[in-house]
Amino acid sequence: MRLIDHYRSIVGDQIVEELFLLGKRLQGKTIQNINSTALGGGVAEILSRMIPLMAELGVEVWWDVIHGDNEFFEVTKKIHNALHGVDIGLSHDDLQHFLAVNKKNTQKLQRWGDIVFVHDPQPVALIKKKKKLQNKWLWRCHIDFSRPRPGVWRLLQKFIEKYDTAVFSAPAFARKLKIRQVLVSPSIDPLSDKNKELGQVFIDSVLKRFGIDKEKPIITQISRFDYLKDPVGVIRAYRMVKKYIDCQLVLAGGGATDDPEGAGVLEEVKNAAEGDKDIFVLHLPPDSHLEINALQRSSTVILQKSLREGFGLTVCEALWKEKPVIASAVGGIPLQIAHRYSGILTYTIEGTAYWIKQLIHEPDYAKRLGVNGKQHVKNNFLITRHIQDYLLLFLSLDNLSDVVQLS
Ligand code: UDP
Repeated sequence: MRLIDHYRSIVGDQIVEELFLLGKRLQGKTIQNINSTALGGGVAEILSRMIPLMAELGVEVWWDVIHGDNEFFEVTKKIHNALHGVDIGLSHDDLQHFLAVNKKNTQKLQRWGDIVFVHDPQPVALIKKKKKLQNKWLWRCHIDFSRPRPGVWRLLQKFIEKYDTAVFSAPAFARKLKIRQVLVSPSIDPLSDKNKELGQVFIDSVLKRFGIDKEKPIITQISRFDYLKDPVGVIRAYRMVKKYIDCQLVLAGGGATDDPEGAGVLEEVKNAAEGDKDIFVLHLPPDSHLEINALQRSSTVILQKSLREGFGLTVCEALWKEKPVIASAVGGIPLQIAHRYSGILTYTIEGTAYWIKQLIHEPDYAKRLGVNGKQHVKNNFLITRHIQDYLLLFLSLDNLSDVVQLS
């Protein structure tokens, strides 16, 4: 049985058949994805699941990862933070290094697709190659673009506007651009190790391995150790709850090869958690999908207390498991959670603590939020819908001149 056939029982035959029709229309075209990490974070998570499925649909698609030294990833992390609205200083040398590494990667790449699909700012300057190739280029933004720092935005804009189309995850991220902008939400794969059903024996064994007590409420946040995920804020919210309810906190995550700040943040989190044996700071290797799945499934409440968020796949992952989620109303999270219907949106540490207490005290209500959340994810954020959007987008590139420009 092909991989794609396993999705029929979840989304129905018609959707899978439509995907095959779209795949057929793309035959003869090559699609090249380019990003900056093969491991860690949402982009790698999605591409690793999507590419084999697209190949089964008959689409010739591949994935290249650009290489950079530590200095490059320090600079791109600065750019990433600035796009999330953080005030950073990007020096002339930073910029020169950013451009030099992009240039080096352009020279190193052996082959180019008919459609080049570039993910996020790190490889954005590869676009300089377009002039020579005369192919189609898409720039896919996975990060929160609602309030970028103007200087860094202007710098990126120069590159982005050379692409044929820019793709954003949420309407709030649309910018004034001279090129076409398209909204495509990310997705989760219900059949991946991260999201598939698990047996209770395995789930219990994971809790046991980490020393977590399954009889006490478990509050969990799964995230890379990143300031913008606010893990220290999560600890503060937990401490407010802990005064009233004997509960545990799990902060689980790893790093991404393109994120140099992770080790420092992890250190801060460990310091903040010190002395409390009910806080579990778990630094997980990148292939811990089954463990993360088990932790999510055994949680009483799941948090995503991000200060900024592109989309927040972890929210979808938790909702798919029918878990009540309390998450910040930032970036793409409000697309996933309708407040008090499919989860809880909060703005502060105090609000987060208040809702953790409420949901632990009202398990029936918490369960309803999770059930509604799963339905919402099923309708909107599964990988099959995402593939369909992408295939349509690739097809639309041949008819770009017919598109009315609104900007
Ligand atoms: N993730 C993981 N291991 C970790 C931390 C996160 O596999 O240690 C996964 C998580 O389950 C989710 C993705 O990485 O699938 C994170 O995507 P999200 O959009 O939530 O945030 P990003 O890291 O892209 O900012």
